[in-house]
Amino acid sequence: MIVMKFGGTSVGNAAAIDRVTKIVTRRLRDDPVVVVSAVGGITTLLLEAAQGAKKRSRKGIQLFERFRGIHDGIMRELCLSERLVAEEYEKLREVLHGIYYLGELTPRTLDYVASFGERVSAKIVSAHFCAGGIPSRPYSGWEAGIVTNGEHCNASPLFRTYAIIHRKLAARKKLPVITGFIARSESGEITTLGRGGSDFTAAIIGRGMGAEEIQIWTDVTGIMTADPRVVPRARTIKKLSFAEAAELAYFGAKVLHPRTIEPAMEKNIPVRILNTFEPEAAGSLVVRNARPPGNSIRAIACKKNNILFNLRSTRMLDAHGYLARIFEVFRNHSIPVDLIATSEVSVSATVDGNCAHKLGEIISELGKICTARTVAERAIVCVVGGGIGSTPNIAGKVFRIVGRGGVNVEMISQASSGLNISFLVKNGDADRAVRLLHKEFLER
Ligand code: ASP
Ligand code: MG
Repeated sequence: MIVMKFGGTSVGNAAAIDRVTKIVTRRLRDDPVVVVSAVGGITTLLLEAAQGAKKRSRKGIQLFERFRGIHDGIMRELCLSERLVAEEYEKLREVLHGIYYLGELTPRTLDYVASFGERVSAKIVSAHFCAGGIPSRPYSGWEAGIVTNGEHCNASPLFRTYAIIHRKLAARKKLPVITGFIARSESGEITTLGRGGSDFTAAIIGRGMGAEEIQIWTDVTGIMTADPRVVPRARTIKKLSFAEAAELAYFGAKVLHPRTIEPAMEKNIPVRILNTFEPEAAGSLVVRNARPPGNSIRAIACKKNNILFNLRSTRMLDAHGYLARIFEVFRNHSIPVDLIATSEVSVSATVDGNCAHKLGEIISELGKICTARTVAERAIVCVVGGGIGSTPNIAGKVFRIVGRGGVNVEMISQASSGLNISFLVKNGDADRAVRLLHKEFLER
């Protein structure tokens, strides 16, 4: 069997949903299980509706009307009964009113509100299969067996989830259309797997079922050698390794949710990234072992808007536990650290710019351990390729090219996995660095 996951754009309107059913119908031989996102833009709308209701603005209720309008429009075009999702509409309306009256919004309630996007889209897609003569049944993530921990808005599946999925879906008689993104905790509360988490759902289901392949159907043709908005000559990478894809999922274009790779890798299930709007294109295939490309470099990724921490202390000289104390501060604020480089007296670390609001507190805590300085608006440029660690002079080439382009490198990190060279530049220099590197390594 295979898992076929369709993202928000792929189920973004009636025509797109119709396209999805045709794509799946052509692959019924492969015994598919379908996973769907909410209609494009709906999760963001729901989160805004909840925030609006909490602030007691009319916006919460207006957004609810828009939610209903969008789905009513789709169902009308697909000739589906408006009663199909009446229950979901009613529950959503009730909870938004509840938030409005209490003026209170917990992460748990936020997850409950966010869940309606996928609950409604799965029902619509499944009903459209039925209307086309393919018996289908919608499943919520929990009906499909996904049990998570209680970390709302960013939950993780429990290990036993895989056996439950297997049991629940083994008995399937009709084509399952499963909600991505949402699940339930052990205590029965609705949880979500983090924004973009439907890919993760697909991988969890794939692992539970021991799928032959996990297909991620999106609106671009696979993982690319660079962001095509920055590098017009960027092209689809035909085949890459899990490890390379993991690097790119995090730093590159948001084609694949970073956590998707793990369940697939654990069971060695190939992940294929395909374009719903160009279904015949081969896309990208992610497998355990992909031969490194001729010049060792697969892609150039970039992530802008990071904050660089420069931490200095002579206490680090010959001392143990110093690094642990520094990272403890980041941990206590739940802030992921992306890049690090250390010397005997200084540590450089970068974090995403979206935690700027916590900066004051962090700096004052770090100030007790070391001298802490920060600079903002920095970009991480990431050269990715499985052959980097085993090819001489890659780093030399990379920095010669970037330097010739007048770009100043502020920090460098190459882990011994030999998979990537990452370095930090000013936001304003990032696109130039990416273009120069792409031209040198990927356009010849
Ligand atoms: N609907 C969710 C989101 O927009 C999950 C997903 O689409 O993958 O974040
Ligand atoms: Mg996505």
